[in-house]
Amino acid sequence: MTSSQKIALALAGVGKIARDQHIPSVENGGDFTIKAAISRNGKIDSAENFESYEKFLEARGDIRAISLCTPPEVRFDMAKKAIAEGLDVLLEKPPAATMGEAQALAELAHAAGVTLFATWHSRFANGVEPAREWLLGKTISKIEITWKEDVRRWHPGQAWIWEAGGFGVFDPGINALSILTAIIPGQTIVEKALLHFPENRQQPIAASLMMKSAAGAPITAEFDWRQEGPQTWDIVVETDQGMLRLAKGGAELYIDGKQAIEGPDREYARIYTRFADLIRTRQSDADFQPLRLVADAFLTGERRIVEPFVE
Ligand code: NAP
Repeated sequence: MTSSQKIALALAGVGKIARDQHIPSVENGGDFTIKAAISRNGKIDSAENFESYEKFLEARGDIRAISLCTPPEVRFDMAKKAIAEGLDVLLEKPPAATMGEAQALAELAHAAGVTLFATWHSRFANGVEPAREWLLGKTISKIEITWKEDVRRWHPGQAWIWEAGGFGVFDPGINALSILTAIIPGQTIVEKALLHFPENRQQPIAASLMMKSAAGAPITAEFDWRQEGPQTWDIVVETDQGMLRLAKGGAELYIDGKQAIEGPDREYARIYTRFADLIRTRQSDADFQPLRLVADAFLTGERRIVEPFVE
């Protein structure tokens, strides 16, 4: 596609994920070109840079699509204004700070006839779609999720993640829930949750969830941000016809211990291909089940206080 045929894109929130994934994926892909960036501190050299979102909306009526890469608590307002201006909107995960915000955005986008793409990047990992296909027609007896990583390594200096609305350990944990809800059908139910809050923080550093699939299979999830050394992002599914394991956040798939899928990380490249397809076909993709599971964990969760977290 020539540069004049590419979709002009704005990107808001030039932080870690924008730099690590969005900008290189757009630059290496064929569908979009970043024409504007909106960030108070970050800049994109090849684009027009705005510190104020309102000034961007006033100045760049030619741009019809936007990626919102800010933290969730400021995304709703930005998304609402973009939809009101008729822009097609890509939301980083989690799509909003609350279920109410997420549902409001879906309704507004539908009424305005714009594309709303609530991305779950882990759903685009190499092993996820093959895992969903392998599970079709099998009876699941048990699912175990283990998502343990070092918060100091993956979220350095991100004060917002510990504040109310910041999701704490559910910021990565929701990725596991996005894979879970992609590979099994129906609504998963949270039965019990145990949430571990550092005494100096507003959000949990660890969580244990007990859930049930729509078909009645028990599902456990262990999320922990205190893991040093090897990092674990695994989902194990036991079935009547063998065992499936998704490792490395969905990048690798093992069936009965044998590796079935591996390959380069293409999550964000696939996200932008999907966004372009949605825009061209005037559709939305906004599944909020992972966010609903996190909300239900907070609703049902027993609270435990653990030692203070100091970065
Ligand atoms: P980040 O490094 O803190 O970047 C977010 C950027 O948003 C900031 O640099 C900031 O840029 C802008 N921003 C606007 N309003 C803000 C506010 N009230 N508080 C803080 N920043 C604000 O965060 P991130 O890791 O990129 O995460 C952003 C989103 O991407 C989150 O929802 C996260 O879950 C998701 N995500 C992150 C990763 C990852 O590996 N980090 C992976 C996948 C998804 P200015 O200061 O220039 O305005």
